[in-house]
Amino acid sequence: KKLGFAIVGLGKFSQEEMMPAFKDCKHAEITALVSGSPDKAQRLAKEYGVDSKNIYNYQNFDSIKDNPAVDIVYVVLPPSMHAEYTIRAAQAGKHVLCEKPMAPTVEECQRMIDVCKKANRKLMIAYRAQFEPFNLDAIERIRKGELGKIQAITSDHGRIVDPKGDKADEWRVVRKLAGGGSLMDVGIYSLNATRYLTGEEPVEVTAQEYSDKSDPRFKEVENNIHFTLRFPSGILATCTSSYDIEQVKRFRVFGNKAWLDLDPATDYYEHEMTIGKKDGQMKPSIKEGNQFAAELDHMAESVMQNKTPKTPGEEGLQDVKIILAIYEAAKKGKPVKVN
Ligand code: NAD
Repeated sequence: KKLGFAIVGLGKFSQEEMMPAFKDCKHAEITALVSGSPDKAQRLAKEYGVDSKNIYNYQNFDSIKDNPAVDIVYVVLPPSMHAEYTIRAAQAGKHVLCEKPMAPTVEECQRMIDVCKKANRKLMIAYRAQFEPFNLDAIERIRKGELGKIQAITSDHGRIVDPKGDKADEWRVVRKLAGGGSLMDVGIYSLNATRYLTGEEPVEVTAQEYSDKSDPRFKEVENNIHFTLRFPSGILATCTSSYDIEQVKRFRVFGNKAWLDLDPATDYYEHEMTIGKKDGQMKPSIKEGNQFAAELDHMAESVMQNKTPKTPGEEGLQDVKIILAIYEAAKKGKPVKVN
């Protein structure tokens, strides 16, 4: 059985990654599109076999409540719009899959959770790496003790933000749309990884930020922000986040028996694991899998089986809380306690 998804926001990520991934899904199919541009919506509806009566715009979106072909609304809009469309979708009786970062503020995240709960609808945040085989393999090795006692994690995520050359980067440098800079957009992958790798929640953060304010890209949002997280068991994580370094998406976990490196760790279709032990290094063979399709199927299965998704609203809220603590630590130049 397949559940019907309405895709809200037909931008770069929707068109290039998520919509093509539905062909690999067992339980998810695209049945509706929501867009501000009718031409684009018509073209994509044709390409994906979506009935043109199931095309909505941002004004008539709420009438999706009368459309039984839609079970789940997938919000792929700039972060400042996530709360509004999640809430409108839940109030229209639909379950919601929402892109990361969940929303720019704790209040919005909490409201998204509360409204979905009240409407008895599932809410899942699209943390694709938590459905990706190399990341899942890394977590399993850590839990089994292959690395020994974990001491430290380093993780780096960065890319060149290019609002002049890439339309999808235009909102990324506008604070009121993005909520923040590199940390909200890419540093969040480092943060989320330290949490799923350790299985713990950080208790304290420190941070430093530097952004060249003469660069027009960084007038409103931060460029470089580096942060450390301290976990209850004593694990220390050190993370780099940047909007002006050549693309990097990696982490390394250091234990007292071995280290494990994933580089790239959070790419779309390419991952590489290296494990270093006293007697040398090895690269385990792990099969690449479609993390996007796995994520979409998980959302559909959560609805079909009436189960809480693996990455519910609370998971998104927790990252936003920590991100805001990192900003506070950078601003104050002092450690900030979390929770
Ligand atoms: P994008 O700009 O290409 O897409 C955003 C879409 O929202 C566009 O179609 C745009 O027309 C529409 N939109 C509607 N109202 C808008 C407004 N007021 N201002 C700007 N756009 C408006 O961006 P994207 O890269 O596709 O990102 C969309 C979402 O997906 C973001 O939440 C982003 O964080 C997330 N994303 C996730 C991943 C991932 O790997 N999980 C990767 C890229 C993007």
